Amino acid sequence: MDLQRTMFQELESKKIFEQAQKHAHTYIDNVDTMNAYPSQKSIKQLDLFDEAMPVSTSSAEEVLNILQKIGTTGTVGQTGGRYFGFVNGGALPVTLAVKWLTDVWDQCGGLYLTSPVNAKLESVSERWLKELFNLPESTVAGFVTGTSMANLCGLAAARYYLLDKQGWNVNEFGMNGAPKVRVLAHDQVHASVKKTLAMLGFGKAQVERIPADRAGRIDVQQLPKLDSTCLILLQAGNVNTGAFDNFMYVCERANKVDAWVHIDGAFGLWAAASERLKHLTEGISLASSWAVDGHKTLNTPYDSGIAFCKHPQAMVTALQATGDYLQYDGDRQPLFYTPEMSKRSRVFELWAALKYLGKQGVDKMVYSFHEKAKSIAEVLRQQDFEILNDVEFNQVLVRFQNDDITNKIIKHIQQSGTCWLGGTTWNNQAAIRISLCSWKTTDDDLNQLTDLFVEAKNLYT
Ligand SMILES: *Cc1c(COP(=O)(O)O)cnc(C)c1O
Repeated sequence: MDLQRTMFQELESKKIFEQAQKHAHTYIDNVDTMNAYPSQKSIKQLDLFDEAMPVSTSSAEEVLNILQKIGTTGTVGQTGGRYFGFVNGGALPVTLAVKWLTDVWDQCGGLYLTSPVNAKLESVSERWLKELFNLPESTVAGFVTGTSMANLCGLAAARYYLLDKQGWNVNEFGMNGAPKVRVLAHDQVHASVKKTLAMLGFGKAQVERIPADRAGRIDVQQLPKLDSTCLILLQAGNVNTGAFDNFMYVCERANKVDAWVHIDGAFGLWAAASERLKHLTEGISLASSWAVDGHKTLNTPYDSGIAFCKHPQAMVTALQATGDYLQYDGDRQPLFYTPEMSKRSRVFELWAALKYLGKQGVDKMVYSFHEKAKSIAEVLRQQDFEILNDVEFNQVLVRFQNDDITNKIIKHIQQSGTCWLGGTTWNNQAAIRISLCSWKTTDDDLNQLTDLFVEAKNLYT
């Protein structure tokens, strides 16, 4: 068999693409009735993938059909309305369609040269997002896989800036023997931030920890005296409570001494785009770098994160690559703002979400998550559940009587297949986390979730 000829035929006949489309349409139709989480039996089926590395070539149709048949059963109903786990968002229909189209374009997004359209839409999206979040004029944005990577970019820029001020070029001389950077983080800082501190050589044990209050906010009364070597890590949206730090208080003090404030706003930064919620983010524009996800609150497909930095020079120097074959002129070079060189041009779905929703649509969707969170918290409270947080944004923390029953309720809901949510530990107690983060969640979905809570409560008390 001539492999190349076969592949030409596959492209020409379009049969496999039609097949993929058919399977995808079936999935779209079924996701609202299928389990929010696959059953143990379905997951067991995935073992069928455990075969030896194939020796001979398969037909493309066979590859596609195996994936459809076995793979589908092992998917999480992420794009349905009954998935309340982590802070994972759904996917707006237009963004999925745009992803299909642009997957066919298969653009390498590293340089202007490798994809002018990617570079253009990065520039446009950067401008729109700065306006939505009200970030300073000098801010630049890098389009990365998620907030973990966006945190890395922000902290790498901070590291460069804070050491450069002390006469130390970290790119050249590294962290061995470098002057001190004081890293200040509160007890509730996200796991991805801690990981970044380890990767960048700051050392997790070197962090000056600032206690958090009962809501998971930095306790500003305990903020130590800042100086020009400080890197302060704040959060817009605590993963458990959804609480927002007091940005104004910290940034005003940081800016007086030219310290660096980085804000991890994975899902919560979007509050800034809602008229009725933006008070939560007051003062964010006074920070130096920010990280946010597209794939959470904005409901773009995976993966989509954005790193913003007010000091372009620091960000570009921290992340830039040089090589004789890399020739830059005045155009936007996406790789200036990200760790990767070659990368998926992932701005298309993000641009599509913003273009489709407009400011009003973003506001409406973000606020609807808040309203739904308030509503389910109220319903559960009436059913004698304890709501552990003030529902400031889209997170609800629930508990019933004690750790044992609370954990049993989580298990009951997870094993129902109908809905999915996760557990956590909050103030040393077991708690249930509900994240309202999908455009698709309806009142009926919330009723189903409430029914499961009540069912479990009755079963275990
Ligand atoms: C989800 C999340 C992250 C990590 O973002 P990824 O997109 O998963 O890389 C960081 N911080 C907070 C507060 C988050 O909610």
